Amino acid sequence: MEQTAKARLIGKLKVFVSTATLIALTALACWGIYTLPAPLVDRMLESDLRHHALRLEKKVESQLFDVKTSFERHILSQHDEAFLSLLPETSDIYHFKLFDSSGEVFWSTRDGDVGSVNTKPYFTDVVAMGNLFYKHEEKPIAEVDSLNADQLENLDSNTRHVAEIYTPVIQSGMFLGAIEFYSDITDVRNLFIDRVQMSLIAISAVVLLALTAVILIVHRNNRRQLGVLRVRAQKERELMDDQLRLAREVRLLGELNEWLQSSRSLDELFDMVSRFMTHILPEAEGSVYVYSNSRDVLDGCASWNGGTHKAHIHPEGCWGLRRGRTYEFGASEIDFVCEHAEPHDGRAYFCFPILAHGETVGLLHLRAHEGKCEAFHASKKLAQLCAEQISMAIANVRMRDQLHDQSVRDPLTGLFNRRHMTDSLRRGISRSQRTGAPLSLIAVDVDHFKKFNDTHGHDAGDMVLRAVGAALEQGCDRDEIACRIGGEEFMLILPDNTPDDTVTRAETLRQAVEAVSVRYGDKSLPRITISVGVAHYPAHGTMPQDLMRAADDALYSAKDNGRNQVRVASGHTDSAAECPGPKSLKQKPDAA
Ligand code: GH3
Ligand code: MG
Ligand code: MG
Repeated sequence: MEQTAKARLIGKLKVFVSTATLIALTALACWGIYTLPAPLVDRMLESDLRHHALRLEKKVESQLFDVKTSFERHILSQHDEAFLSLLPETSDIYHFKLFDSSGEVFWSTRDGDVGSVNTKPYFTDVVAMGNLFYKHEEKPIAEVDSLNADQLENLDSNTRHVAEIYTPVIQSGMFLGAIEFYSDITDVRNLFIDRVQMSLIAISAVVLLALTAVILIVHRNNRRQLGVLRVRAQKERELMDDQLRLAREVRLLGELNEWLQSSRSLDELFDMVSRFMTHILPEAEGSVYVYSNSRDVLDGCASWNGGTHKAHIHPEGCWGLRRGRTYEFGASEIDFVCEHAEPHDGRAYFCFPILAHGETVGLLHLRAHEGKCEAFHASKKLAQLCAEQISMAIANVRMRDQLHDQSVRDPLTGLFNRRHMTDSLRRGISRSQRTGAPLSLIAVDVDHFKKFNDTHGHDAGDMVLRAVGAALEQGCDRDEIACRIGGEEFMLILPDNTPDDTVTRAETLRQAVEAVSVRYGDKSLPRITISVGVAHYPAHGTMPQDLMRAADDALYSAKDNGRNQVRVASGHTDSAAECPGPKSLKQKPDAA
């Protein structure tokens, strides 16, 4: 981001500097085109005219009859005069003068000049020393007599550029005098200036064009680099977003895992799942189904984030369960809607089979919210990971439940075992101590069971024990607990029952067991009876072992009294060894 901004700033600076350079160069070129040519051309012309003057001077020297005499004594022959008079017509000069060594003009193309003396320092210090002297100045048209009528008509200025060159005449190392040549250089100068200007314009144009091209290329390169940087920055931003999202997902998954592992029941687990899934995948509504114990249907356990669940669904109605892998509706060209997803409005959904120890135990169903399909499909991997976490957690809770069941249940009857009974009794007594609620304990022993076993076999005995257990369990209400404490002995804890009600309940249980009919093979087994002992908290004890002993004593009292009857523990105010009422106490003769 910062890199792009820096590059953009550098790019803008480059454009600014390039444009400023271009403008400055254009201005410089304009200035150069109008100021440089004149001095340049003047320098060129000077050099050219100096050579020309030297040639002319040699020509004059060679044509004069006696140069020395002519310059020293001002004597010119007729031939000399004729030659000198014709010289302007045969050369570029329009006027020239001959000076003797003192600077006096002794011959000129203009008679008025003869006799005048040049005492200027350049004559005495430069020309008299044997050097050429060049002078360039603008003179009025009247002083330039080389112009014809046509030229005079077309003039756009009333001055002319004139070059004056003093050429020394030296013989045998002696300065004899000098010749001054006048040339009208206006036309040639203008012509050259025009040409130089044209050349400069052409060169400047080429240079400026080349420069513009270079600047454009640099500018385009800059833009391309900026584009590349922008793309790179965008990619880096996306990568960063991805990493942040991944880090958040990993953190949430870790938290989900930790919470799920600490859940103690499936209800608590599904509550956690609902809250976490709403947070982790806010773009999806969801529900969880778990196989019922019979395994023919799945029970709806929880739903979240606007989702709903059905009470039961059939495993064949889900494509995920049927195919044993994740089903993604809305990802292929052809899709089939699961039965449990009906009524379906076309939104994308996932069905993740929940596996535990290689066995399918349920289904996680997620459905995209309206308009969130793209984000929903992108979250498939995360949803899959969530499903795996949930699977593991369900497996753990189930295993814990199973282990717990195994540790508290009796495998033959399915009733609670002795350990659970003593724990429950302890808890029940504490509760009654706190609240003052009544609590009773019923001890049950099957009559003459040894004989029953001996007569009908151990397996038949087991069947009978199972039937007795079922009858006792059915006789219990919600908070009441039926346990098999060993062999053919059972105990029931009945909280919140008055002593009279408990005795009535005990009698009902006795009758219920007496009415049990068990089929073994193709015959019915003989009916069995139970002897029942009842003890109440706190009348017969305030400690679990005291209460159990009291109930046992009452039970043995029932045995002693002829079995198949209910006896209440002695020490109780209105029960003693006798039972509360004849209607609930049925005495039967000893079967043994
Ligand atoms: P009582 O009326 O005095 O209680 O006589 P009883 O024969 O029932 O009493 P006893 O204590 O003499 O015999 C208990 C019998 O219960 C002995 C044993 O064969 C039987 N038994 C104990 N546990 C099991 C069991 O798990 N399955 C079966 N089939 N029989 C059991
Ligand atoms: Mg016994
Ligand atoms: Mg017995």
